[in-house]
Amino acid sequence: MSVPGTVSQNIMQLIDRVVQFRAEIQQIRRDLHAHPELRFEENRTSDIVASRLAAWGIEVSRGLGGTGVVGTLKNGSSSRTIGLRADMDALPITEANQFPHRSRHDGRMHACGHDGHTAMLLGAAKYLAETRPFDGTVHLIFQPGEEGGAGAQKMIDDGLFDRFPCDAVFGMHNWPNLKVGEFGLTAGPMMASSNEFAIEVRGRGAHAAMPHLGVDPVLVAVQIVNGLQAIITRVKKPIEPAVLSVTMIQAGEAVNVTPETARIAGTVRTFSDAVTAQVEEQMKRIATLTAAAHGAEADVEFRWNYPPTVNHAAETEFAATVMDDIVGAANVVRGIEPTMGSEDFAFMLKARPGAYVFIGNGEGAHRSAGHGLGPCMLHNPSYDFNDDLIPLGATFWVRLVEKFLAR
Ligand SMILES: [Zn+2]
Ligand SMILES: [Zn+2]
Repeated sequence: MSVPGTVSQNIMQLIDRVVQFRAEIQQIRRDLHAHPELRFEENRTSDIVASRLAAWGIEVSRGLGGTGVVGTLKNGSSSRTIGLRADMDALPITEANQFPHRSRHDGRMHACGHDGHTAMLLGAAKYLAETRPFDGTVHLIFQPGEEGGAGAQKMIDDGLFDRFPCDAVFGMHNWPNLKVGEFGLTAGPMMASSNEFAIEVRGRGAHAAMPHLGVDPVLVAVQIVNGLQAIITRVKKPIEPAVLSVTMIQAGEAVNVTPETARIAGTVRTFSDAVTAQVEEQMKRIATLTAAAHGAEADVEFRWNYPPTVNHAAETEFAATVMDDIVGAANVVRGIEPTMGSEDFAFMLKARPGAYVFIGNGEGAHRSAGHGLGPCMLHNPSYDFNDDLIPLGATFWVRLVEKFLAR
């Protein structure tokens, strides 16, 4: 039978034992979905993760990055190590779905599928603990605060890779644009950096009928906004992707008053730190010199949030060959188009070799009756993680470990 948005089940080489305990892991996934926790508040979630890992005989370390959990499994005598990472936090969204496992909390929802990421890694953990089919050490990294909290960096700051050395580290995100049974990945930039800026323009307030007595920050702000687009079209190299979006302009409170100040804010996305630095530098020049030309002043605050997620070539191809064995090379999208979204696994890939990969979440037909009317897209209130990925994602993690720590 063919299910829309799903690769034929016959093609997938799933691990039988992992398929057998799918119901147990799915129950955990739906429980996490019903009880979402925002960044760095993942107390209940990390309790569940830690207690399961411990029950399966896995050594548990807690407290990294606040609510982070690391499970460690050693087998054999090899000094080789691998890190597998899942994120645990939810988003400040009110869920539109009405199915039984909908969020119990208004204003909190697992709309990015981190409940599923946690569940897939737990599924792999259970199997790895039962069968220990490897020689070396596996670190199962459950991180807090991916959604805007840089939880990955917080875990690194707390000594993640010193206490739990990893020869390579891998992360996985469900991806609604791919079918269930498809994987996508690319060497090099996979997701963009995320940066934000705010520019304060200070002029001199005046009666709007006597503009010559003041310095109009609104006119200056508009010219700065226009000038900023020249960074993208005239300054950076055309083949280097970058987005600069001014998303806020705030000034003035009365039609007959020239205000004192105006504020501009927005976001910058790039695929390299060099381009981000170039945009920041040129933004400061355009803002301050445009303001100076009009007798105003401008202060630029530019914040680097997440760096670009840049996959290492060897580890990316390694992960792709593992996928080939599970779903067939035809269902592994090598060289997938990078996305301008961002991801804090980027910090781990700056610290260690590794790869970030996408696992297809399908088109939404998996959602239980009573789902919202919106699309099954990430960060949408009608989204739900596809539980069919539990055995597939867990199989991928297991096979990755078996191959990386081959006996
Ligand atoms: Zn997200
Ligand atoms: Zn996410």
